[in-house]
Amino acid sequence: MSYRIDNFIDGETTESRSERFGAIFDPATGQQQGTVALSTAAECLDAIASAERAFADWSQTPPLVRARVMFRFKELMEQHRDELARLISREHGKVFSDAQGELTRGLEVVEFACGIPHLLKGEHSLNVGRGVDSHSMMQPVGVCAGITPFNFPAMVPLWMFPVALACGNSFILKPSEKDPSLALRMAELLKQAGLPDGVLNVVNGDKEVVDVLLTDPRVQAVSFVGSTPIAQYIYATASAHGKRVQALGGAKNHMLVMPDADLDQAVSALMGAAYGAAGERCMAISVALVVGDATADALVAKLKPLVEALRVGPGLGPIPENEMGPLISREHLAKVRGYVDQGVAEGASLVVDGRGVSHGEGYFIGGSLFDRVGPEMRIYREEIFGPVLAIVRAPDYETALRLINEHEYGNGTAIFTCDGDTARDFTTRVQVGMVGVNVPIPVPMAFHSFGGWKRSIFGPLNMHGPDGVRFYTRMKTVTARWPQSLRAGAEFSMPTMK
Ligand code: NAD
Repeated sequence: MSYRIDNFIDGETTESRSERFGAIFDPATGQQQGTVALSTAAECLDAIASAERAFADWSQTPPLVRARVMFRFKELMEQHRDELARLISREHGKVFSDAQGELTRGLEVVEFACGIPHLLKGEHSLNVGRGVDSHSMMQPVGVCAGITPFNFPAMVPLWMFPVALACGNSFILKPSEKDPSLALRMAELLKQAGLPDGVLNVVNGDKEVVDVLLTDPRVQAVSFVGSTPIAQYIYATASAHGKRVQALGGAKNHMLVMPDADLDQAVSALMGAAYGAAGERCMAISVALVVGDATADALVAKLKPLVEALRVGPGLGPIPENEMGPLISREHLAKVRGYVDQGVAEGASLVVDGRGVSHGEGYFIGGSLFDRVGPEMRIYREEIFGPVLAIVRAPDYETALRLINEHEYGNGTAIFTCDGDTARDFTTRVQVGMVGVNVPIPVPMAFHSFGGWKRSIFGPLNMHGPDGVRFYTRMKTVTARWPQSLRAGAEFSMPTMK
């Protein structure tokens, strides 16, 4: 049965006044299953006004009370876990266990936000001068906005709003129009958890509402996750309008396999990291850089039968469940198929061709494996965001490291080796934000911060963890001296602490 997704403004599900709607497809069948309102600029202004009103009281609510809302929210999300995971799978297409994993990683940020009273304690120095004390406090910034991608409809919003709200801000979430249901459902559960009306608003839509969030003077901070061209646009526009911005972009993550690596471990890591979620993860491994032809030959020989045997099918399929679901849309499927065509045309060797795999009208493609990919090829330089793994053969470690460092993206990387000295050299010299040692997808835990380098991020502060708290608060430092020191009279030289 077809459904319609509207907005959540001022604590209520609000029917959109827009005349524009987007289609929500079931990627496993290719059938339209619902519609989403593409809201108007005026509706976004309503949400900003609501968030601004709500900020006045929420920012003064004790952090302990705000944390208790987060504890209840976490409880409710756990109670509705299977329903939420099914919803992710139905709109995004990823397999059910992967959707559950996404929820777990998102809920870890809620757990982190539950510790907010401790995180906001600030700093205090007694006697910075005689009779003078100084303390720093972290105050919320105001109305914050989050614009999120399709590939993690629960986890990426959960990187943002739990920390923002716990810090005392109000928030407007603009989810991906491709899988918008999760955002609305989480807003309802937060209300049930006791969040006051207007503290979290969800506005569905596209560029029209995003541009309001980037330019309205009442919005103080913008968090974005998505593709690099849009991340750059978000950063340039919002910062030109005086906002603080964290904008995370695309990726091309390399896994370096050294000749001394445990090859079976490397192969199983590559299978999950390259083909899990059909490669639609910003931390997916899309390049295996293999040092030495002998290692590459052995690796390809082990990978080939496993890639051919991947169970591809609907995310909510039978038990045992499939390993790889469909891609998000017909257009994206055509784009990924086009990259496989391109790789062949560029002269890479196609060891496994996923283009033959299909299931009815769903947006399916099988896993593809290219060997002998060159750094000049488009399939090496560009983000494909699909189940296509490129093997690049490197003569030695230094060449491999240089290739990673010269790539325009720097989100995640990993090295597989049994040598501690090589691993140490790699972690210190590699120009990438998140690095794994024998760990293929090194996504930092919620109490650390998540973010890449180079064109995978715009703005200095990463998501969640300590950086998340810094991003969603302003530091204020108070230096105080009490009246008796005034007896000394006025000072006309530059004040220094005595
Ligand atoms: P996208 O850039 O197309 O869309 C992201 C968001 O921006 C959506 O909410 C969309 O509605 C909005 N948007 C799109 N075009 C816009 C425009 N012209 N003006 C204003 N807003 C616009 O990204 P996507 O396809 O949803 O997600 C996939 C991309 O996200 C990949 O590149 C992936 O690497 C990246 N990603 C990065 C990370 C990370 O942590 N670095 C995490 C997840 C996804």
